[in-house]
Amino acid sequence: MTNTSTLEDTLITTEVDLPLGPTGRPRREFPVPPELRGHGPARVIALCNQKGGVGKTTTTVNLGAALATYGRRVLLIDFDPQGALSANLKVETDDVSTIYELLLGSERDPQVAIQQTQIPGLDIIPANIDLSAAEVHLVNEVAREHTLARVLRRVSDRYDVILIDCQPSLGLLTVNALSAADGVLVPLECEYFALRGVALLLQTIEKVHDRLNDKLELAGILATMHDGRTLHGRQVLERVVEAFPEQVFHTVISRTVRFPETTAAGEPITSYASSSVGAGAYRALARELLARWPAR
Ligand code: ADP
Ligand code: MG
Repeated sequence: MTNTSTLEDTLITTEVDLPLGPTGRPRREFPVPPELRGHGPARVIALCNQKGGVGKTTTTVNLGAALATYGRRVLLIDFDPQGALSANLKVETDDVSTIYELLLGSERDPQVAIQQTQIPGLDIIPANIDLSAAEVHLVNEVAREHTLARVLRRVSDRYDVILIDCQPSLGLLTVNALSAADGVLVPLECEYFALRGVALLLQTIEKVHDRLNDKLELAGILATMHDGRTLHGRQVLERVVEAFPEQVFHTVISRTVRFPETTAAGEPITSYASSSVGAGAYRALARELLARWPAR
């Protein structure tokens, strides 16, 4: 053995001296991202977990709003027929163009369906229950897995980030989201069965990568609804980090009643309670994501 590892040893020793973050690794601070001179082409991120109630929609809204506060132009895609994302931002879903129409007529200019939210720089294409018919319609399409990708390509130049809020399933809509995406962000609720089903999700991501979209990568796993005050909460997070040491974001989202409150208010937490811990966490997630994934 040569003695080339001195620097590494020093770094490791230094790290041990730093305070630990909630994931049990040395706490990391991510810098405020540099200002952009222009916009686009967008990075597309699908928020995906076939389990419901894990924080996909909450993360789409609040990560999107946080990215917008850092000067990024952000487009949110509601890709769940329940329309929770649209409801969370109190946008119109009846008598307006939705993502469903764009899927059926992908030659239409997506601009007809884009709505501005009350957050500057944050736009959305809404969905409503019509989207539940999309899978049936798409089955007979040529290249049916790439329908959403064709739609998003037409708006990519106007945005820096596009976030797709997936429905809780691994069906054709979600496969469309994965085929259109550069990265997948997987929110995991910190509870006892958190890891159940994750293997299937990762297999699906790998299959889409191999067969449909070779630019797809795992953008990261986000621990949500974490309760650091209980031993159970800490143990669950420990297990998640053990299973995915490289992929788990340093940023962890705590469980707090402020999130259901903001849902009711129809506003992101970053504007509803901008100095709250939850708002700070989503701003940290935005910085971490941009640091991991610098602008092209
Ligand atoms: P999904 O989109 O995965 O189904 P949601 O984002 O809709 O999950 O979250 C499910 C419910 O949990 C919502 O009522 C939401 O307000 C609430 N929630 C989300 N994140 C948190 C959190 N960190 N702490 C407490 N409640 C949360
Ligand atoms: Mg949802």
